[in-house]
Amino acid sequence: MAIYEYVCSACRKPFELTVSMAEYARGLKPACPRCKARKAIRRFTSVNVKTRSKTGSGWSG
Ligand SMILES: [Zn+2]
Repeated sequence: MAIYEYVCSACRKPFELTVSMAEYARGLKPACPRCKARKAIRRFTSVNVKTRSKTGSGWSG
């Protein structure tokens, strides 16, 4: 299970969704919680790419 961030391309509402690997592999098309449109686009979070300007601190491989 992983939490993915989506943004609805119809109403621009961002939302999070917990998706299992099986569901994700099947090409899950989540419905927007606001307008119910199945036009959600996956947002790519940069959690692992945050330490860019900072060198050294918190860099634990
Ligand atoms: Zn929407």
